Amino acid sequence: MLKKYLADFLALFLVLFLALGSLFLWPNALSLAANEAPAIEGVRVVPSPLDRGTAGLVELAKGGADCAGEFTGRLIFFFEDQKENRAPGRDPGTRWVGLFGADITLKPGTYPLTVTCPGFKAQTLKVTVRDKSYGVRNIKVPAKQVDLSPEDQARAAQEKVLTDKALATVSPVRLWSGAFLEPVNGSVNSSFGRQTRLNGILNPRPHAGADFLTPIGTPVKAPAKGQVILEGDHFFSGKAIYIDHGQGLISMYFHLSEILVSSGAMVDKGQVIGKTGQTGRVTGPHLHYGVYLNGARIDPIPFRKLTTQF
Ligand SMILES: [Zn+2]
Repeated sequence: MLKKYLADFLALFLVLFLALGSLFLWPNALSLAANEAPAIEGVRVVPSPLDRGTAGLVELAKGGADCAGEFTGRLIFFFEDQKENRAPGRDPGTRWVGLFGADITLKPGTYPLTVTCPGFKAQTLKVTVRDKSYGVRNIKVPAKQVDLSPEDQARAAQEKVLTDKALATVSPVRLWSGAFLEPVNGSVNSSFGRQTRLNGILNPRPHAGADFLTPIGTPVKAPAKGQVILEGDHFFSGKAIYIDHGQGLISMYFHLSEILVSSGAMVDKGQVIGKTGQTGRVTGPHLHYGVYLNGARIDPIPFRKLTTQF
């Protein structure tokens, strides 16, 4: 009889011991595992600090396509730096890079940039965004282009829905590779970031592209491979083309006299997509060339330099 009680008591004790033990040990075991996850190797942001309206790079000494990042609420995709990985003495396939943009209107300050890779500890870096003076210009346009008629207002609003949708495109596959080309051979008047006082009134939206001063009819080349996601004749932008280069990188071409591609078409690097003109709200013939990186408006001129690394 005593033996039976003892056996029951021991069994109960064992159950309690295991239950309590696991309660105490389980969270520790979990946090221990998290602490033991290795750090992502060689995470670096270039350049630092970064000017507002420019793009930066996150480098991983060892990474993969399943690594991801985030900066100011915008996704960062990683791709293999094939140029570097093919260099003598390097492990092929190890160095990965991600592009991120500091939007032209981003307030100067320090922002977190997070990087995650499955099986590794998530890492948060601090990125300092500097102010940069882009200037103010004064232009005059006919009053009817500023004080829009109800019809023009409705038209511009309709077109904004289309362009907002195009600019929000984030397709997962990177179509571009190697250095971006200049879309036209011509003198660049990189008025990117400049604010405009239009007929005396300051427009809070800064100029989100670079203007190339070119005669009407100059061929416009796609700077990199991509897919045309929108084309049309718009009130402000005139004849316009939007190209998706993948992973949130979008380029656009405004005020064209001719559009030579249609929506959905794949275009190769260097392919002529249109001709320069002076359509839409302009003061003279020029090409407006814009680049958005996951919604961040960045200066296409320094961005081109960044792409020469790959
Ligand atoms: Zn422009």
